Amino acid sequence: MTNFVLFGPPGSGKGTQSEKLIAQYGLIHLSTGDLLRKEIKNGTPLGKEAESLMQKGQLVPDEVVIGMIAGALDSNLNANGFLFDGFPRTVAQAKALDNLLTLKKTHIKAVLFLQVDEDELIARLVKRGETSGRADDADPAVQRKRQDVYKNETLPVADYYENFDKVQRIDGEGSIDEIFERLKSVVETV
Ligand code: ADP
Repeated sequence: MTNFVLFGPPGSGKGTQSEKLIAQYGLIHLSTGDLLRKEIKNGTPLGKEAESLMQKGQLVPDEVVIGMIAGALDSNLNANGFLFDGFPRTVAQAKALDNLLTLKKTHIKAVLFLQVDEDELIARLVKRGETSGRADDADPAVQRKRQDVYKNETLPVADYYENFDKVQRIDGEGSIDEIFERLKSVVETV
């Protein structure tokens, strides 16, 4: 099993590149944002708890997302590997993921960290806000909050993986295909 984390700030292109990576390598895509939006759509208690936090640009509690990921790992026992997208978003989530993968006798091969300049991120998110239909994309104040949460809570996750020498920085600017080519060359050499 070969597992990767796709890492980067909101707007760095994780969702777009995930689709291409899973198609290319037969990985299972585990996006906590997508899983949470599904819970909201289905009106589950978990979805109700998550919804107001997401609308404010805040994180959903660690134990909630860790529980979702644990469930997803258990329902895909024969997977080739997983691509984690939008998870882990805190150091506590990263440690919990390591424990879950150790129990399954596997590990994270590399953290693919998309590097995008802050002005470019804001421009992309404004554009996405016009089309995605996501309330947390449309409001500039919520976008700023999400960037703050990223810097304070999520960026330390890169330092955590740095300790294990797992971080691969990839230029996340350019065309979708250019960025994908860069990702492929890292995935195929790590
Ligand atoms: P983006 O790709 O724009 O960064 P996501 O779709 O990954 O956004 O996540 C949307 C929202 O869902 C986040 O702002 C947060 O409220 C919640 N969320 C997603 N993943 C996690 C996570 N791993 N931990 C806590 N909250 C999360």
